[in-house]
Amino acid sequence: MINLEIPKKFRPLVSQANQVANEVFRPISRKYDEAEHEYPKELDMLASLIDGMNEGSEIGGAGAAGVRRDANGNGDGKNRNGSNLSTVLGVVELCWGDVGLLLSMPRQGLGNSAIASVATEEQLERYGGKWAAMAITEPEAGSDSAAIRTTAELDGDEYVLNGEKIFVTSGDRADLIVVWASLDRDKGRAAIKSFIVERDNPGLKLDRLEHKLGIRASDTANFTLQDCRVPKEALLGSPEVDTKQGFGGAMQTFDNTRPLVAAMAVGVTRAALEETHRCLEEAGVEVDDAVPALCQHAAAARLLEMEADYEAARLLTMKAAWMADNAKPNSLQASMAKAKAGRTCVDVTLGCVELCGSVGYGESGLLEKWARDAKILDIFEGTQQIQLLIVARQLLGKSSSELR
Ligand SMILES: Cc1cc2nc3c(=O)[nH]c(=O)nc-3n(C[C@H](O)[C@H](O)[C@H](O)COP(=O)(O)OP(=O)(O)OC[C@H]3O[C@@H](n4cnc5c(N)ncnc54)[C@H](O)[C@@H]3O)c2cc1C
Repeated sequence: MINLEIPKKFRPLVSQANQVANEVFRPISRKYDEAEHEYPKELDMLASLIDGMNEGSEIGGAGAAGVRRDANGNGDGKNRNGSNLSTVLGVVELCWGDVGLLLSMPRQGLGNSAIASVATEEQLERYGGKWAAMAITEPEAGSDSAAIRTTAELDGDEYVLNGEKIFVTSGDRADLIVVWASLDRDKGRAAIKSFIVERDNPGLKLDRLEHKLGIRASDTANFTLQDCRVPKEALLGSPEVDTKQGFGGAMQTFDNTRPLVAAMAVGVTRAALEETHRCLEEAGVEVDDAVPALCQHAAAARLLEMEADYEAARLLTMKAAWMADNAKPNSLQASMAKAKAGRTCVDVTLGCVELCGSVGYGESGLLEKWARDAKILDIFEGTQQIQLLIVARQLLGKSSSELR
């Protein structure tokens, strides 16, 4: 059983992250929602502060952590105890402030999690301290990442990458892009590997930035890779194409990153619930946790129902992170958490807009923004439907070809 209270050692981190969310993120939240594609320069100083927190801390910080595992999925003994859980707790607080700004934080990209999880000591030395985005999605490969067409061909001491990548979060601002490409398309999933590409590599051409419904503070870039040469050492993990292991190696990154996206959803959900609670009180609607929901005002009953969903999402997220910290295989729990938290965030933020009426829909507050920001959390790092598919496969013991 996990202890549901926040461990004492994490409390200062949670409190610091909440302070940042409240004092830095919230005041500039609307500004960068409106100024899409403008870099939130206020984050530079904050990022250095978080780097300092990460370095000085035994338990990890609020940013992108990775979990290092051996071939059997066990920890390699180099993980900081509780680093996933502490990251999840920090991310929840920061996204209570603003999820778009969290996604724009230098050096905290999903590519950083991948590097932290599988990079060799030499790679950590070479690429550590840089901001890394993650480029998996292509025009013909979204949910089905095994359909990736980008190729990586070995030429002497370099790999030559060719293909197209779309919807890369922080793709324009990051220093590095972790690109998924196939070493041999005839060998299927097992041949897909990730490569670290420097953002200023002349073979990496920025095609355009996307305009979006939500998370507008975060840049989303599309690229073409044209004879993009990277050193052999830029390949993350083993270059061996092991058809027995299949996709397992590359997919393991998701066991670490899905709880993080679930944590983002938990943070946004809590922000909306708290604001709605405040609005209802202001309107004279009392919400009483000690009285059955159906005996209360209909608006209070709806809020309590949404709070129960939030609590389930939060606990699943913490469990998935706790399992990763304790070297327990967590693919099932990571997908459960992502599915529950993503859907809850979309339902609850819209439910809160509904409960608060014109106050919820207008731009004088942030509820309408959170409802727009929420949707992506149920799409990237695997959509709702894909998470449910993974859960079903795991529970029924079916392979991806048996249940698709
Ligand atoms: C703002 C934003 C940021 C992003 N950031 C990144 C990033 O940093 N890096 C990156 O690599 N990608 C990123 N993505 C891409 C994102 O991961 C993909 O959009 C997502 O994986 C879905 O792929 P798709 O859009 O091609 O949809 P599709 O795969 O075409 O799916 C369309 C619909 O069909 C459903 N569906 C698909 N297959 C099945 C199935 N087998 N069973 C049931 N339903 C199914 C899906 O759930 C979805 O509802 C980002 C996307 C956005 C919008």
